[in-house]
Amino acid sequence: MSEEIKRVEFTAEMKKTYKILFPNMLTIHFIILKGVFKGLGYDVELLTTTDRAIVDEGLKSVHNDTCYPALLVIGQFIHALKSGKYDVNKTALLLTQTGGGCRASNYIHLLRKALVKAGFEQVPVISLNPAGLEKNSGFVIDLKTIRRAMAAVAYGDFITALHNQAKAYERKKGTSQALVDKWCAFLSDRLEAGKDASGSAIRFNMKKIAHDFSAIPLDKSLIGKKPKVGIVGEIYVKYAPLANNSLEDFLYSEGCEVNVPGLLGFLLYVFDNNIIDVELYGGKMSKKIANLLLRTYLESYEKMIRKNISDAGFAAPLPHSRVRELGKESVGLGCKMGEGWLLTAEMHALCEEGYDNIICVQPFGCLPNHIVGKGMIRALRRRHPDANIVTVDYDPGATKVNQENRIKLMLSVAREKIEAREKNGAKEAGEEKQSGCTAPSKEVGHNAGVAAQSTGQGSSRQEDVVSNVK
Ligand code: SF4
Repeated sequence: MSEEIKRVEFTAEMKKTYKILFPNMLTIHFIILKGVFKGLGYDVELLTTTDRAIVDEGLKSVHNDTCYPALLVIGQFIHALKSGKYDVNKTALLLTQTGGGCRASNYIHLLRKALVKAGFEQVPVISLNPAGLEKNSGFVIDLKTIRRAMAAVAYGDFITALHNQAKAYERKKGTSQALVDKWCAFLSDRLEAGKDASGSAIRFNMKKIAHDFSAIPLDKSLIGKKPKVGIVGEIYVKYAPLANNSLEDFLYSEGCEVNVPGLLGFLLYVFDNNIIDVELYGGKMSKKIANLLLRTYLESYEKMIRKNISDAGFAAPLPHSRVRELGKESVGLGCKMGEGWLLTAEMHALCEEGYDNIICVQPFGCLPNHIVGKGMIRALRRRHPDANIVTVDYDPGATKVNQENRIKLMLSVAREKIEAREKNGAKEAGEEKQSGCTAPSKEVGHNAGVAAQSTGQGSSRQEDVVSNVK
């Protein structure tokens, strides 16, 4: 950080009168998380703005070599402060930081520099991170906060998984989204009131949520006929519609089922890395033990999520321990810059779960994620030869049309695989009829298409897409 730029601390006094703005990275999780902050006495507002002026403001505020996620977040903050909607002498900014070794840990300094440049040097910036990077007397992360925030993450991952699986097949458009809105509002209010963060309350609510989603009337004739697409990549671009040009909406408009791995996996990855650091480079055993305990604590949420998803008849994601093992097949666990080994591991996991059409989203010029994403495609295809992957770069100069065209090419391969599978299925059924054999009936459910789709044949167009990204 530049010596001249003084950090403005967010004090306990400010907590009583300031509004805190924070960027909406995860559209479901952060609505619930907002309730957690409000319950702790903070006046928070999620920034949901999406217009092009944000990119322009980012370009004016930071060097154009800056990572795209930082450019967007900083642009969105400055855009909000300039909008006239907020009293800039009573507004603070909340920035999430991973605390990792990459440039993301320096975004906060870039933001402060941009604030000074724009004439908002009095605005305090609060860092929200799992590594204890900066402390503010008015914003204290204690056990109560962690417990409620973890409940918000668990609810967010759970609702996202059910929503993703139901939305693509719902008979009446908007049914699944209405349930998302209903439950996000309810859980946000409950957590604001300091309720529903205990394990038993989470289990109870998950059962009710699952019951609601499993009652959505689905068009089962479509199961197995839609391309199943997984999204991996740099965390902000992967989740934030502002960064990925509303990628999920685009995929739904193209008739896909979408799977975006949850946030809990990323938090587990952070603790994994602390443990692996001690194993590889040495360090205090107490650090390793503390992180093992934290990982076990987080895994208890994962178990709840997985169990309640499967109990409701939906497909649960693989456990993180398995995802980690899959990643190890292609990349060492010491590789932890950016999304590190997790990104490769998530691609493996998606293929195992039947989402072998993958979009790897990455900020342009993001070296770490190009290595563990694009750079691992060949290694991934050794285990999953049918994997149909496209990498898409995001930056201020990339056009949405170009990004969508690349994705459409990948989807055309996915559709060819589905057609080939259907033809093979019809042929096999004819042969069985002739020989008098009866095939065991396949269970019809949310998972019905998974196994079948992953056996789809490769095609020349698929080779095109892959060679395109090599
Ligand atoms: S992971 Fe990529 S986008 Fe994130 S800080 Fe590092 S280089 Fe920038």
